[in-house]
Amino acid sequence: MQLTFVKREELSPCVWEYYFKPERAIDYVPGQYIDVILDNVEDDPRGRGRVFTLTSLPSDELLSFVVKFQEPVSLYKQYLELLQEGDRAHCNNAMGDLILPKDTARPLVFVAGGIGIASYASMLKKMLAKREERDVYLFYALRSKYEQIFKDLLNSYPLQLKTIVIAPNRLSAQQIMHSSPPNALIYLSGSERFVEGLSQNLETLGVDQSQMVYDYFEGYDEL
Ligand SMILES: Cc1cc2nc3c(=O)[nH]c(=O)nc-3n(C[C@H](O)[C@H](O)[C@H](O)COP(=O)(O)OP(=O)(O)OC[C@H]3O[C@@H](n4cnc5c(N)ncnc54)[C@H](O)[C@@H]3O)c2cc1C
Repeated sequence: MQLTFVKREELSPCVWEYYFKPERAIDYVPGQYIDVILDNVEDDPRGRGRVFTLTSLPSDELLSFVVKFQEPVSLYKQYLELLQEGDRAHCNNAMGDLILPKDTARPLVFVAGGIGIASYASMLKKMLAKREERDVYLFYALRSKYEQIFKDLLNSYPLQLKTIVIAPNRLSAQQIMHSSPPNALIYLSGSERFVEGLSQNLETLGVDQSQMVYDYFEGYDEL
């Protein structure tokens, strides 16, 4: 599927939201991701494609996703930074299981590390658009308050709880367990270290693997 670059917008220092126009609508559900391929990338050891979680709604004309730039950036991201309006890229079909459950009565716990919050943007937009009031508990861990993104979106959805944890404070599995319903579905999104660490600790506290859904943004040390 061919994509045409439209624009990018800075959301916080070194975090940008990218917008592409697909040649035709892509079939996806909120929470899913696509592999964005830049044909002219040469010599990047990780190749010409990177996976990004869609922050747009399936009904939107444009696809959007959030990208973090940490120096030194990869060759791939150097090309991404140089994109000009009208430049082409392409992607494959959307993928991913980090999506909303059909059961709208099931409480949801959204846990995000840094730009991992991007995994919940499209879901929250969908629930707002459909006036779907689910019980959502949000835990958002950040290295600094300046890195927070999607503030308006997080403030516009009637969350049951919004806990923002800023370093050096650390979000713990106990904190999540203590402040959320026992039958909740727990979503984890962030760097591999963040997601792995929390999922193991939650399991130690008795949370069954079937109660957790996660995507980790590989390739990042910290988010
Ligand atoms: C399911 C899923 C969803 C994802 N969703 C998103 C998303 O929405 N947004 C997103 O940004 N990413 C997302 N990712 C991760 C994304 O696919 C990339 O792996 C990630 O953005 C890192 O990109 P990069 O390899 O181009 O490296 P960079 O981000 O450029 O670099 C990654 C790290 O490697 C270091 N590094 C890079 N090049 C060098 C070098 N030459 N020498 C030394 N150090 C170097 C950087 O300093 C940085 O610390 C997702 C991944 C998965 C699996």
